[in-house]
Amino acid sequence: MKTDALNIAMFSIHSSPIGELGTRDTGGMSVYIRELAQELGKHGHRVDIYTRNNHNNPPAVMYLNDHVRLVHLDIGENGHLSKHTLYPVLEDFFKALEVFRNKDDRQYDIIHSHYWLSGRLGHWAQELWNRPHIVMFHTLGAIKNLTGVGLPEPEIRITNEKSLARSCNRILVPTEREKELLVDHYDAFPGKIGVVPCGVNLNLFQPVDRSVARRQLGFEQNESMILYVGRFDPVKGLDRLLEALTHLRDYRIRLVIVGGDGPETEDAQTLMRLSQKWGVQDIVTFEGRITQENLPPYYSAADVLVVPSHYESFGLVGLESLACGTPVVSTKVGVLDRLLQDGMNGSIVPNGCPKALALSIETFINGTSLKDSTSEVIRTSVEDYSWSNVATAIIDEYKAVCNQNLIPPAPNISGK
Ligand code: UDP
Repeated sequence: MKTDALNIAMFSIHSSPIGELGTRDTGGMSVYIRELAQELGKHGHRVDIYTRNNHNNPPAVMYLNDHVRLVHLDIGENGHLSKHTLYPVLEDFFKALEVFRNKDDRQYDIIHSHYWLSGRLGHWAQELWNRPHIVMFHTLGAIKNLTGVGLPEPEIRITNEKSLARSCNRILVPTEREKELLVDHYDAFPGKIGVVPCGVNLNLFQPVDRSVARRQLGFEQNESMILYVGRFDPVKGLDRLLEALTHLRDYRIRLVIVGGDGPETEDAQTLMRLSQKWGVQDIVTFEGRITQENLPPYYSAADVLVVPSHYESFGLVGLESLACGTPVVSTKVGVLDRLLQDGMNGSIVPNGCPKALALSIETFINGTSLKDSTSEVIRTSVEDYSWSNVATAIIDEYKAVCNQNLIPPAPNISGK
């Protein structure tokens, strides 16, 4: 262990970093925590990630690499709760965490919490351990509510996010846009917010020849393939993408949808009903959840990945697609707004309405969009986004926070 190695406590209570990606509550945040923690471990830092035992009987402690432990906290049957009902039992999780930590005799230099529910645990740890607390919200409840889609986020979330923005020592966000949103909607102090982008696993996500990828996956060579990858949350705007297909009837196309919790779930049923409503069910394939290791051929097989979201704090799937050399059509969300350049690697559809999405997708299936851009050129647009670079920037953030005089925590963030 390096002498300047940090001991880091990470909290990810509602979603495990090794959970099933693409399901309702498990997506980019889990990828972020797993990849970041492993990189921090490679840099010689010690990381303990605390998550809950969601009753799949995982071992109490798992090693993700030599320096990274995943600790499953158990609070009995009550641990088996959905994200929205975890709030009242957070104190029980904190007690379980303290029991583990005392037995383990582990002290930490820094607390890094993810999402508002874990932010609350982070706040208690900040007070009790007198250590700096860095929060990442990943998405903001108030901004989700502004989109007007899906069930409204509860007021308790927004109240807690506001309190945490005041009481923590530092807030990390992945884009300048998220920083502006925190300042404008949460009155967060701009000097307290650090911007560090998320990353992409450049070793895993690499271009594969399109026809080879299609043959491997059993997709037609002579159809244009439009790809969606992600959770089935209404905020993802998949309904708009299904409707967009109605404007592309002149083409031989297939929309391949990756992700979701299975065909029987309400979310999947709703999307299937919508594809029937628009008369596009014959050209839509629901692939279900695909593990990340098996995703690269999907990206490579596609003519274009579409991100039709109403809101993304970052948008990892966009980077994964670009790393595989496949262009991206996206609404004006997350990092994609800045990263996509017409004629080079994709296109932004400021108005995410189905017709506008279709017009943009069309240019990628009829070949008029990309000038001389090859998959290698497209990949270069994300080459700075390695997880190693992300970890280096995060370590700088940790060290700066550890070296500054700690801002005393706010006395009460009960959010009530
Ligand atoms: N993902 C996956 N399998 C799936 C669907 C999604 O591995 O079937 C992964 C995908 O590779 C990406 C993450 O889930 O890394 C989704 O992250 P993103 O930032 O795009 O969306 P979020 O889930 O954070 O809203």
